Amino acid sequence: MRVLVFLDGTQADPDVAQIKVDDLGLMRGDGVFETILVVDGKPRELRPHLERLVRSAAMLDLPEFDLAAWEKAVSLVLERWAGGREMVLKLVYTRGSDGDPAAVPTGFALGSEVAPAIFKARADGVSAITLERGFAPDLAERAPWLLLGAKPLSYGVNMAALREAARRGAEDVIFTAADGSVFEGPTANVVLAKGRTLVTTPPSIGILPGTTQAAVFRGAEKAGWTVEVGPLSVRDLVEGDGVFMASSVRKLTRVHTLDGERLPDSSAVYAELVAAYEAEYA
Ligand code: PLP
Repeated sequence: MRVLVFLDGTQADPDVAQIKVDDLGLMRGDGVFETILVVDGKPRELRPHLERLVRSAAMLDLPEFDLAAWEKAVSLVLERWAGGREMVLKLVYTRGSDGDPAAVPTGFALGSEVAPAIFKARADGVSAITLERGFAPDLAERAPWLLLGAKPLSYGVNMAALREAARRGAEDVIFTAADGSVFEGPTANVVLAKGRTLVTTPPSIGILPGTTQAAVFRGAEKAGWTVEVGPLSVRDLVEGDGVFMASSVRKLTRVHTLDGERLPDSSAVYAELVAAYEAEYA
């Protein structure tokens, strides 16, 4: 089951060609996107996702868009959805057709089913490896053209890192900076539990500010946890009480093994944090 609605409100068939071959989103990954989890017809963190889409688009100097048009496209997808309880809702916004002076951006919302691998990761946790990202944590501020902290369509490196993990028998990656500190995953933020404190790495180092991490922190604070944003080392992760990957569709995923070393069992902490996160949507 899939539902496709363009930003102008037209519904289209997702199983036939819809995008021109010279669309710059396709040719150069020149565009931005968001991936939103919808449960029982309700999109989670819709406003933060839309606000991040606005910020990403501004970082790429894409034409400004009307938030109401996105809200309308989203509601049309939700109305037409006849699939499972959960839906993956992707919003895509590209620079449009190459070489056309009158080109308008391409924007669409696409609803699809959640892949079985996602349910497995939520249930079983993942094995992760650390991989170098190749830059220093202070680069983001100095080099805005690198788009660190935006969510551009160009995820080739992120996907290559996940394939490297698969080659090494793991399912996820934690990127590290040139100084060895922790960045984020290719599609998720890193959350560490240490006693009753949760820590995640700061967006200022050039990572994506996560909507799921923010929701987990909100819920956890209400449940009595202390939350902190600050630098983390790989040693902090290994010595903590639980390492989790936070991302919209996988929600919170437990890392049970890091660089081949089994981490201490964090299933009880995990269950508590998932309950705190789910309580945000009860
Ligand atoms: N970091 C990166 C690089 C991502 O691609 C994502 C999501 O896809 C995240 C973090 C987590 O963001 P969110 O929780 O808003 O999905």
